[in-house]
Amino acid sequence: MKWGLIGASTIASEWMIGAFRAAGGDVVSVLSSDPSRAAEYSKAHSIARGTASLDELLSDPEIEAVYISTTNEKHFPQAIAAIKAGKHVLCEKPLAMTSKDAAEMVRAAKNAGLVFATNHHLRNAGSHLAIKDAVTSGRIGKVLSIRVFHAVYLPPHLQGWRIDNPAAGGGVIPDIVVHDADTVRFHLNEDPTDVVAMSAESGLGTGVEDSCMSIWQMPSGVMVQTHESFTHKYTESGLEIHGTEGSVVARNVMTQRPVGEIVLVTESGRESVGFADHNLYERAVALFSEAVAGQGRPSADGADGVKSLAVAEAVARSARTGQRTKVVYEE
Ligand code: NDP
Repeated sequence: MKWGLIGASTIASEWMIGAFRAAGGDVVSVLSSDPSRAAEYSKAHSIARGTASLDELLSDPEIEAVYISTTNEKHFPQAIAAIKAGKHVLCEKPLAMTSKDAAEMVRAAKNAGLVFATNHHLRNAGSHLAIKDAVTSGRIGKVLSIRVFHAVYLPPHLQGWRIDNPAAGGGVIPDIVVHDADTVRFHLNEDPTDVVAMSAESGLGTGVEDSCMSIWQMPSGVMVQTHESFTHKYTESGLEIHGTEGSVVARNVMTQRPVGEIVLVTESGRESVGFADHNLYERAVALFSEAVAGQGRPSADGADGVKSLAVAEAVARSARTGQRTKVVYEE
């Protein structure tokens, strides 16, 4: 598959260019808003073309699919333009600044017969696949609750717009709550209905929240507790799923790398759960490419991205108002 990159971003350089190539694809063009940066970035990453014109990139007949990883406020217009140009779209999370816009993007792709996916990487992790397998095969009985620990220290090279620019979609809620929403939905196969949340500017954030804690109600009655932060230097991430017959306790699994430990605790004692250590992004790209070829579906599709954003919006609304808040899912 021939890819065009919309956005000369860090995530593309650190993970996605390698993932496209590992899946047998080729990155043929990159868009930056700055022509000299487009030239530098294309040279640094051995990409044939760099351009500052979205029209030029989208009119390139060689490009079959685009990967959008600009700052969040640009995703919507760029995705709509890419879909109009007949390109399949892999879009970064959050899909847009509102779930209404995100739903419009996903509808447009569907109407045009194009594959649209959201780059929620965690559901591709061997660790999360193994956890889901343990839960769905009944190892912990009926699920009672989930706790998600996703407080990290945002590395200085990623701080930029994330910690001070609400207009670009900064803040820990659009950045990390969306991933937690997708991960919880993945494990439980259901969508949160109501949330209660508090957020804070606790050291890094200026004009945007850098920390958030919330509780979500699931239709089945399962209770979910999540913690997201940019300011925690020394803790590990984690996920716990507790059931009537056992608990899954996973550490260091809310991460981009294929690492972590999973322990299953039941009446018979503690057992370590093994998992595959493939690259998360490579799996996402491989499934996307197969979907374009007419086989299967992306690991997280457009509807998944719309729903994760709807949960994040409800969390933001609840944190702002102090009220228990319904999640509103756009069709
Ligand atoms: P970056 O800040 O690295 O890139 C965003 C934009 O900022 C780029 O498109 C680029 O604009 C500009 N930019 C980047 N580096 C420089 C630089 N050195 N000098 C000048 N401009 C620069 O953001 P991220 O890569 O961290 O995030 C991009 C998107 O990807 C976001 O939507 C984010 O939420 C998502 N993301 C997803 C992850 C996942 O695991 N799914 C992980 C990390 C991010 P231009 O293109 O105009 O040059």
